[in-house]
Amino acid sequence: MRSEGPPILELRNFRYTYLEGTPRASEAIRDVSFRIRRGERVGIVGPTQSGKSTVVDSFAHLLRLKPGQVFYDGEDVAAPGYDRRKLRREVGIVFQQPDSQIIEDVVGADVAFGPTAAGLPAEETRRRVEESLNALGLPYPEYRLRYVHALSGGQRRRVAIAGVLAMHTPVLVLDEPMAGLDPRGRRELLELLIRLQKDRDLTLIVCSASLSDASLLCDRFVVLDEGRVVMDGPVREVLREADRLAQLDITLPEPVIGAREFKKLFPDLPAEILTEDELEAELLKKLGVA
Ligand code: ADP
Ligand code: MG
Repeated sequence: MRSEGPPILELRNFRYTYLEGTPRASEAIRDVSFRIRRGERVGIVGPTQSGKSTVVDSFAHLLRLKPGQVFYDGEDVAAPGYDRRKLRREVGIVFQQPDSQIIEDVVGADVAFGPTAAGLPAEETRRRVEESLNALGLPYPEYRLRYVHALSGGQRRRVAIAGVLAMHTPVLVLDEPMAGLDPRGRRELLELLIRLQKDRDLTLIVCSASLSDASLLCDRFVVLDEGRVVMDGPVREVLREADRLAQLDITLPEPVIGAREFKKLFPDLPAEILTEDELEAELLKKLGVA
């Protein structure tokens, strides 16, 4: 994790109310501030309705933003005259509802949509479509001519992710990417994201209500509750507060759940355990075997 240098993304006392000024107004974000630096892998975690997707939508400039709250690469994205094309070129977002971002009927054409719109030559576009589909476990020769609406929900999610990957953006934002995937699909996507982050030196932002996958993918957690940041720190530091996280209705990683059970027997067992292997090693220590 690198944390020097100016932030690539920053929210400064961000507040957002849907349908502001109407009887149906809903205050989604009460006060959220954080800075994300290049190359960081940040999990934005919190229970449902805590404001994760609204934060993501602010990066996409989908909301009517007030100036002075959302900054990309040092620039206020809501300032008059801000060039939004830069944001679109550099921040790839996979939304929570992937169907909303599938544009074409045919898989290959859909994944090609972004690169084509960005003006890339046909040959480079084809190469990226092939690479992205293969990376997501949808082999190009087999899937490029398939109809999107004939695919399963998990496959459509992967098509949506492939379409964003094909843009080669330096920042990748995924809103609940594991939802609707079976265990094998989750494992494959997790491995792919870890590999991509290394190969492409990505800045990665992952929203999730479950810490299982996010704790293996991220270095840092920003925890939201009711539109506020309630914790922000390195993954292990945040996991140390397992009780508080459980109270917030955030799903803990399996090894942390295991550690909490064993804590009844060994009260000084650490809570910030990321893998089954670590849990086993700690237990062996406690039993005096290791
Ligand atoms: P999360 O992604 O953590 O589940 P959201 O950002 O989707 O949280 O929602 C935060 C709050 O904003 C919730 O209370 C939700 O009901 C409200 N909200 C989200 N989208 C809309 C919308 N389009 N119109 C009105 N209220 C919304
Ligand atoms: Mg959401």
